[in-house]
Amino acid sequence: MVRRQMEPHDAKREISNLTAQIRRHEKLYRLQNAPEISDAEFDRMMRRLRELEESFPQFKSPDSPTERVGSDLDGSFEEVEHLTPMQSLDNVFDADQLRDFDARLRRVLGLAPAPANIRKDEAAEAANAANDGASANGDGGAAGGKGAENAGESSEEDSGKSSESAEPQPLVYCVEPKIDGAGISAVYENGRLMRLLTRGNGREGNDISTNAFLIRNLPLELKGDFPALLEVRGECYMTVGEFERIRAERFEREQKKLEQRREKERAKLRKGKSKSQSELPNFEDSAAKPSALFGGAAAAPVENSGNSDDSSNPGELGVLESSAASASSGDSIIPAKSGNSGNSSNSGKVSGYANPRNLAAGTMKLLPKTFEENPELKNRELLAVFYSVGACEGFRLRRQSDLPATFKRWGLPCVDWFCAADGVDSALEKIAQFDTVRRALPYNTDGAVLKLDDVSLHSLAGATDKAPRWAIAWKYPPERRKTRLKAVTLQVGRTGVVTPVAELEETEFPDSKVSRATLHNAGYIAQKDIRVGDLVVVEKAGEIIPAVVEVDKSARPADSRPYEFPQNCPECGAKLARFGEKMLYRCPNFSCPPQVRGRLAHFASRGCMDIEGLGDKMTAFLVDNFSVASPADLYGLTAERLLENEKFRDDKGGLSKTGANLLAALEDSKRRPLWRLIFGLGILEIGAQFAKELSRRFGSLDAIANAPLSEIMAIENFGSKAAKDAQSVRALSIRAFFDDSRNRDTIERLRVCGLNFADADFGGAGMPGGSGASGGIFAGRAFAITGRLESMDRMRAQALIESLGGRIQSAVSSKTDYLIASPDSAGSKLEKARKLGVEIVDEARFLQMLEEGGVRPDTASAPENLEALNPPRLSPEGGGPKAEASRKRAEDSGDQMSLF
Ligand SMILES: [Zn+2]
Repeated sequence: MVRRQMEPHDAKREISNLTAQIRRHEKLYRLQNAPEISDAEFDRMMRRLRELEESFPQFKSPDSPTERVGSDLDGSFEEVEHLTPMQSLDNVFDADQLRDFDARLRRVLGLAPAPANIRKDEAAEAANAANDGASANGDGGAAGGKGAENAGESSEEDSGKSSESAEPQPLVYCVEPKIDGAGISAVYENGRLMRLLTRGNGREGNDISTNAFLIRNLPLELKGDFPALLEVRGECYMTVGEFERIRAERFEREQKKLEQRREKERAKLRKGKSKSQSELPNFEDSAAKPSALFGGAAAAPVENSGNSDDSSNPGELGVLESSAASASSGDSIIPAKSGNSGNSSNSGKVSGYANPRNLAAGTMKLLPKTFEENPELKNRELLAVFYSVGACEGFRLRRQSDLPATFKRWGLPCVDWFCAADGVDSALEKIAQFDTVRRALPYNTDGAVLKLDDVSLHSLAGATDKAPRWAIAWKYPPERRKTRLKAVTLQVGRTGVVTPVAELEETEFPDSKVSRATLHNAGYIAQKDIRVGDLVVVEKAGEIIPAVVEVDKSARPADSRPYEFPQNCPECGAKLARFGEKMLYRCPNFSCPPQVRGRLAHFASRGCMDIEGLGDKMTAFLVDNFSVASPADLYGLTAERLLENEKFRDDKGGLSKTGANLLAALEDSKRRPLWRLIFGLGILEIGAQFAKELSRRFGSLDAIANAPLSEIMAIENFGSKAAKDAQSVRALSIRAFFDDSRNRDTIERLRVCGLNFADADFGGAGMPGGSGASGGIFAGRAFAITGRLESMDRMRAQALIESLGGRIQSAVSSKTDYLIASPDSAGSKLEKARKLGVEIVDEARFLQMLEEGGVRPDTASAPENLEALNPPRLSPEGGGPKAEASRKRAEDSGDQMSLF
């Protein structure tokens, strides 16, 4: 628990830090489907926050993450209210906490404390042993003892209330799997599926009925004696097998595409020369294989970083920094062993999906348009499993343990494993049992759920805002191993962030061997007092990069010393600078080799300028042998210069194919769309989506370079009134980049080389693209949308509104000017608009308004235009389908997206 002597001041700061971090990770998990930390790490943060809030209730904010259900609402699907709220569950992690839960529940129900149980210690040990795995804290016996103590305490407290009952009965629990999927709620009326919703924020969910077909075992009609109205809750999941299939197919597609491109290049060259290609490019090959350094975990962080341009949590510089840091740990740790630090631009291209859960959540929210463009996505198979009832008419459940059989009767998929347990000790035994069988189930599980079996007691027990009091989730810990920390090495990313990496004595996890793990940053090392030579606990969960999470201080060598973060860049010797709320160390030297290599590789990568053959290795080679230091230097390469190095000479002393290919690819890249150049320049905080937005708004590189800060700030998501806001960081970053004379110089040289500096579509094609946020007829107006529109989907409506200068709000407030509502829409938004006197606009009127603004929705329907029109959204739209869509784009172009 929280130490008594903690200063309120420190507690306050820690609470606010934890809250910001939890929000950010919640968003990565629920909206981006791209978690950066393991669930266990997340749970730890949540527990710590709860502890602090209990000790210092004065600093607890009313909307603390401990008090509410996280939200997956992302604005792309209609938001519909659940008939009954869809709550989440509180978690427990050991026997002690489970006893506390049971004792609390007994008190709420007015029952005497749990009867003593002679098998208590044994059962607690069994469950705790299950939870400890092969790792650190073997304190099962101690937990059992403490549980007994607690029971004693509460018996004193409650003796007055419940002394009549001589022989108190244990509560009966139904123990079920805790499925690691995405929450769904299905509503059946007279046995027919009427609606399928995501969990959303617990009160409202996204209506994903159009995607119900993806869930193969979801019945459209119920069988048997079903009730007139039935709201059922469950999880949507993807089997590991299906996940692997999709991954494998994606890999194959990538390989095929790569092969086709190479074939094309070869064909081009065959015209000139006729030599065999067998020993051709050995430069880029290494990049095509996912790194095995982290047991195949390499892909996840790269994808995370790819999304980070949409994901930055508005509000905290520190948060942005940490996102840069974690991305750069992905971007710098991985290639280290292949002799390149600084960039792993291609390692994410093969297996970008983090895990089945994330892919299921993303698939569930694919937009109709995405299916039209990619019919093969319809083949993805999702499954559902249901475990509880929400609203219901004409049926009364007596025992939770009767539910699976009832569901089966109605034709609903239900859990395959469950059992009733008398009291906590029996439940602990079942939990331990389940840990041995759960790996054989078709879905991933991360724990067990205990529900009070007697349903009539549920309403008596009641619920908090967030979770029912009659159910609890037991979470199994992720795999952990103890090993020795041999050394700490530093990696410098392309943005200069220096990331510490743990070099470990190799240790074996079920699916891989681990010899390196992330240490996140200097603050993390200091906070945990991690020292070289320590026995450390390493945790690896799913596809997340292994991390050092704990130190066994009892095993610390006598001569150990606190780790001192080096003051100089390990690569160039420059004195490191430390700034931002997170105080990350950065190498400030613009010419620091890994930064130079990283910037160039980023510039050339497929997501940016897409220069074929210019992968990590080739980039490093050019930096070392041709003094290439900026993108402009790349375009200064000529056949004459390349011939100076034997690598680029063939047998007869002429230019080798590799050399010719490189020059052709460079020439080819000069005509890339403007946004690729903007993205490629590597402006901090400007990923692909924001680069597209800049291109669309300003039309040329010069217009961006010369735009006053205020103008950039005026663009939604680039600036805001609050100066510390992350959005302002984006605008400031753009200004800082173009104000730097080195960057100006690079840009002038790129101009001389003949690169495309203009957006070809700017202001053209009847689109009001050039007018930007300030010029359109909707300027300064705020719009909200509810219901389905006939003439276009919601994304398109949003894009059109924004193209005319309007703003989109996800909720109706007093600041909303118009609510666009379809005639059949009902619900909270419409109600609120009426209450607040917000003008309600029907579709016909909306179309008319668009036309007044010079937009005919039916004339500008090319997907490219829509793409260009779709401004990047931060919140809450940054998520699921967007993330999926960008993943889709990444697949198409082999794009590894932004690196930070
Ligand atoms: Zn350096």
